[in-house]
Amino acid sequence: MPNSIKAAEKVFHGVAVSPGVGQGKALVLGKPSHSSVKIQTISEAHVTVEIQRFERALVLTRQQLIEVQKKLSERTGGEHDSIFEAHLLVLDDPELNNEVLRLIQSQHCNAEFAYHSVAERYASSLAAVEDDYLRERAGDMRDIASRVLNNLRGNGDEADLRHVLKEPCIIVAHDLAPSQTAQMDHDKVLGFATDVGSRTSHTAIMARSMEIPAVVGLKTITSEISTGDFVLLDGVNGVIIINPSARTLAEYGQLEAQQESLHDKLRELQHEPAITADGHRITLSGNVEHADDAQAIIDCGAEGIGLFRSEYLFINQAELPTEEEQFQAYHKAAAALKPAPVVIRTLDLGGDKFRSHTDVPDEMNPFLGWRAIRFCLEEQEVFRAQLRAILRASVVGNVKLMYPMISGLEELIRANALLDECRGELRAAKIPFDENMEVGIMIETPSAALTADALAKRAKFFSIGTNDLIQYSLAVDRTNEKIAHLYEPTHPAIVRLIKLTVDAAHKAGHWAGVCGEMAGELHLVPLLLGLGVDELSAAPPTVPQIKFLIRQLKMSEASQLAAFALQCESSAEILDRCKALARQSAPQLFP
Ligand code: PEP
Ligand code: MG
Repeated sequence: MPNSIKAAEKVFHGVAVSPGVGQGKALVLGKPSHSSVKIQTISEAHVTVEIQRFERALVLTRQQLIEVQKKLSERTGGEHDSIFEAHLLVLDDPELNNEVLRLIQSQHCNAEFAYHSVAERYASSLAAVEDDYLRERAGDMRDIASRVLNNLRGNGDEADLRHVLKEPCIIVAHDLAPSQTAQMDHDKVLGFATDVGSRTSHTAIMARSMEIPAVVGLKTITSEISTGDFVLLDGVNGVIIINPSARTLAEYGQLEAQQESLHDKLRELQHEPAITADGHRITLSGNVEHADDAQAIIDCGAEGIGLFRSEYLFINQAELPTEEEQFQAYHKAAAALKPAPVVIRTLDLGGDKFRSHTDVPDEMNPFLGWRAIRFCLEEQEVFRAQLRAILRASVVGNVKLMYPMISGLEELIRANALLDECRGELRAAKIPFDENMEVGIMIETPSAALTADALAKRAKFFSIGTNDLIQYSLAVDRTNEKIAHLYEPTHPAIVRLIKLTVDAAHKAGHWAGVCGEMAGELHLVPLLLGLGVDELSAAPPTVPQIKFLIRQLKMSEASQLAAFALQCESSAEILDRCKALARQSAPQLFP
């Protein structure tokens, strides 16, 4: 298209959550179907094909509904079966479907338009009646209609991205579940943009670790962009541009070239240690979601896995992984990285992580609910299988185990007792494991940080999960973009809680690390070092930059920064000082 008539460039700003630049056609998921159902006239000869297309969409929708019903029923013991029965009745309503067929035949219109017009008329008349029960059926009607329309458009079951992605594209959605992000194929997803979301949601964390550029919190982006629009997504600056001009594209070309040259420079440090300019040694590890990510750990120059989010073995699986399947995964990571450590965090489901995107929590506050260690201490068979698998893998390499979301001593004592029982079972069965495997805990709740001295008597190390520690200390939902401005890693309360935790670990002769996203925020690295943190664990793609920064930084300056932060009353002032020291130490990282 000549430039003169090319549609104008439009720029939208959101929250940058995963660096990199992607450009390509947009694929908008989950737009309200009625907003874009257009009439198309078809020829007489095409009527039969159109009817067949409609019938196929009905069959496909039926299969999807049965599948969703089956999964939900397994979880809830059939409690919600009646909803799906009502949906199936709507789908199979002969009166409605015959009317659609008649419309296609008489008006020679496309199936999407025919189905949408009839279904919407049914839904509107149901919505207008007095009877509550019938009024609710209008919602069922619209729900089914949008599924049928998605299938007619070839969008399939949009919740399952594997069915939707046919060519490389930038995904635009209202929101994405971590389980959906985990299904993204790197070759097909050039980037994604969402209306809602925040930097520390698990969707954002997943995007960073998969190196998929992403921008979230764009508020209304799903109504600004249409499928097929050409867009450029800048995950560094949190920008998405529709119809980028030739000039914008050229500028981005230069930016990418600069980033590549920095990347090459950083690669040269792969085998160098993370040691400050004045000789202070830090352990630099990586966070992973899968055993196969062990290669990424080696490639990025990390010294092991500081956080293996084992729950991703459970996500997007129809069945729970067996002990043997888990053992294979842990074994693989431990063997690949030996003698470097692999810290396996036990199952942390709940919050914003569920086994599948159809697992809708029945809790008002899932982050404060039945999550992580709380779930494991009740679902003991699931927990025991995992503990045995981790113990068995401990003979293969340098495996450490850690419990998530500990909020008090009692939980740690109970978890350790179960672990002891598992050790006993393995001994009795003569199955080898490392008797000295280190067992630590995550410090993610203010209660754990404040009682770190007591916890340190029963744990060999602490890894501070700042993502949760910040959300629980400041009472700010980590996934809610509306209150993202309150989510402040440099809040004096957070600085003090980290210091308290590190001091308690050191007093007991243990090490303390940080594996939350704060460890990967370059400008916060000097503060963490100054507070005495011994280990940082971040997404592999950010590890080379962290190492570069550490090697340019003076520990004496980091300690001064921490001393300032510990007596300062303002988050903003602490943040400014952090940024200044990081920039001054490694200006190349902050162009
Ligand atoms: C954290 O809370 O900081 C953490 C690392 O755990 P997750 O992000 O998986 O909750
Ligand atoms: Mg956490």
